[in-house]
Amino acid sequence: MLSTEIIICGLDGVLSLIEHRLHYLNNDEGVRDWDKFHMACGDDMPNLPLIDRLNQARAEGIAVILISGRSAAVSDRTRAWLEQWQIGYDGLYLRPPGNFKPSAEYKAGVIANHFAGITVRRIYESDSHLDVAGWATEQNIPCTLIGHNQGNGESREQFELKVVNHACNHTVLYPFYGDDDFTWGDRLTQLSQGVCRLCAATEQREERRKKTLQAQHQARERGLPPLEGSDKQIAWAETIRLSAFGGVDRVLRWVEEVSEEAEREDPDYWYSVQQGIKRAITYLEEQTDAKWWIDHRHGMQNHLEAGRAMLSSIAQEMGYM
Ligand SMILES: [Zn+2]
Repeated sequence: MLSTEIIICGLDGVLSLIEHRLHYLNNDEGVRDWDKFHMACGDDMPNLPLIDRLNQARAEGIAVILISGRSAAVSDRTRAWLEQWQIGYDGLYLRPPGNFKPSAEYKAGVIANHFAGITVRRIYESDSHLDVAGWATEQNIPCTLIGHNQGNGESREQFELKVVNHACNHTVLYPFYGDDDFTWGDRLTQLSQGVCRLCAATEQREERRKKTLQAQHQARERGLPPLEGSDKQIAWAETIRLSAFGGVDRVLRWVEEVSEEAEREDPDYWYSVQQGIKRAITYLEEQTDAKWWIDHRHGMQNHLEAGRAMLSSIAQEMGYM
């Protein structure tokens, strides 16, 4: 290839509009049929305004390289579709069978192997693959995200690719198609008032990190042992443990409130209940395996009923009562 500059463009949800076949992945039955999803690619509508942009780049001597996570099993179908819609390109890379790497790792690998030393001018990527956008930012490569269809999608005859400048200053291109075009303006305003999905994901991560730190701090204050596991497991387990001990505290307050009366009614029974609670709490305090907390997360909540149910099931299971 003579070109010293390239543009990288994805296929599914970027150059081709895939809403009509997403039901193979997201459905009420919870079945993810990737084969059928890929096989239906021949019926995609092309993102014509984006193709115009790519054609302009090619006219300026910049090569357009299509790199897609779509399976190479539909290579013929993909080439036929590109030809049918007269989409010009200078290279096509589809995911080889058995390659299940995350999108960013897979695409970065193709670029490193085939385009070392060549300047990547821009990457067009679907906002479903935020890892690619994150990688591009790290590499100082401009990345334009293509959002999901914002129209009602029932008809694909009316189609527009709209430029949205989000509140975070990132620009995202959104396809709009469907009959109901009078709401498009409202949707555009709504989108531009919020941050892009990449920034939303970063904010969410930051929020989770804060929550974990807070939970770790509270666990230390309480004298709980550090958890063991991967960073991800520990982060998750720490917030579960925090909720669980929130429930424990509520049970302890409840014990204080009812103790006098329960003691009067049936001292032996009340003694065994209190012992059961005490030993179940000790048991909880001793669990340092993050995976244990994750496996037992259901029912670990910061309220009295959940706390009582949790402690009594531990006490029963361990024979404390
Ligand atoms: Zn943003």
